[in-house]
Amino acid sequence: MSSSQSSIPWFDDFLGVAYRYYDLRMNVVPLFTERKESMTIWNDTIHWWVDPSIKIRFVETGDDYWFILGSDSQKPATNVSFFKVLPKSEHYERFKKGHGGEAYLRLGVYKKQTLDDAKKNAMCACSHEARDHDEGDDDVCLFNDCDCKKFSSFQVNLSKRKKTISDIKFLDEKDVKDDPLTWNCLNVNKYSKEN
Ligand SMILES: [Zn+2]
Ligand SMILES: [Zn+2]
Repeated sequence: MSSSQSSIPWFDDFLGVAYRYYDLRMNVVPLFTERKESMTIWNDTIHWWVDPSIKIRFVETGDDYWFILGSDSQKPATNVSFFKVLPKSEHYERFKKGHGGEAYLRLGVYKKQTLDDAKKNAMCACSHEARDHDEGDDDVCLFNDCDCKKFSSFQVNLSKRKKTISDIKFLDEKDVKDDPLTWNCLNVNKYSKEN
């Protein structure tokens, strides 16, 4: 493992990761709550990444997985690598099966929707559409057997700017020593914090 790799700080202060089809390709989308924050991350860090060196790694640990993202940068002094421990999801499994060795990296802004913002066919967390919710103050779901008291939904806005990732690996934890980025991540963020 190179010393430049081990000196890159790790960042996990983002919401999660969305996996979306967009522009005919799978997109890997780290999610932020504020558009301004995602712009800053893009401009300060990801903009300077060298596409062929961008790596994403996935390491499954039980019901969770580690998402790990890093790259060589044209501005190495301010480079940052990203990681997040996330619950396995349907979208994650779909990406794992369907990525085909290449994906786009975009940033996303996660926005909660109120009943007023939502289109009539937007889906609530209770699985019924916005039109099935009362438009009164409390937004209750009007389905008889549903106990949803308040409409809740979200939308993800994807950045137009993107980078191409062509180095994607799913690793077993026992094999991470052979992968410098992954080893560095688990070493700094997991093994050195155990005991
Ligand atoms: Zn509902
Ligand atoms: Zn409902």
